[in-house]
Amino acid sequence: MKNWIPASSIPAAGKEFVLDPAADWGAALAEFKLPYDVRGLEARVRLFPQEEGMLARGAFKGCVIMPCTRCAEDAHVTLDQTFDAFEPYPFAEGGAADDSGAEAFFEKNAGATSKTPSQAKVHGAWKPEAAKKSRKGPRTAERDAQDAENMEDMNLDVDENVVRISPHGLEINVAHLAFEEFLLALPVKALCSEECKGLCPKCGHNLNTGPCACVNDEGDPRLAALRNLTLGKK
Ligand SMILES: [Zn+2]
Ligand SMILES: [Zn+2]
Repeated sequence: MKNWIPASSIPAAGKEFVLDPAADWGAALAEFKLPYDVRGLEARVRLFPQEEGMLARGAFKGCVIMPCTRCAEDAHVTLDQTFDAFEPYPFAEGGAADDSGAEAFFEKNAGATSKTPSQAKVHGAWKPEAAKKSRKGPRTAERDAQDAENMEDMNLDVDENVVRISPHGLEINVAHLAFEEFLLALPVKALCSEECKGLCPKCGHNLNTGPCACVNDEGDPRLAALRNLTLGKK
């Protein structure tokens, strides 16, 4: 997938993007040194342009192979979940950024009459009620104030990795948007198996493959012959 997509190419009714996670996230995974195998994962995102940002609805389905939290061997994590995200557009105060592309975009797609969207910085969970409230009716000073308040409530921030204004206008990086949501979707702990015994804290031996020498340091020397036996799974 092309990284940066012109926001003007996305119709008001929305547009769906089907990602190839291994290809689309390859560079990001390498940059952050994340040893995740995402070849078995499906990721799709539907974008809906809004007056002051891009609403994204997406889904992850499939398998991610990542290191087991305890032993670092492969853990197979199944994902089957959806996400909602709201990416505010970057409109720098005092016209530091050229937002003519964005203005054209708004006039074309949202019928907006105002050229001064709220300046509030926002980041975090998107609240549908708050966002909806801010888009109804003609723009007034009161509404601007309310928008700013709503956006502060949402505590969102413009994500420069996802939204930018280029000489071609406003652009969205769908692959990166999905990548950030993917990182949030991953479990804090990934286990190769619920019974994973982890690594020996002394020598680093993978205890799933059998005991290590240190475990038996204080053991009966007559049992030494048994130390290297590997126990099969019950
Ligand atoms: Zn493990
Ligand atoms: Zn050990």
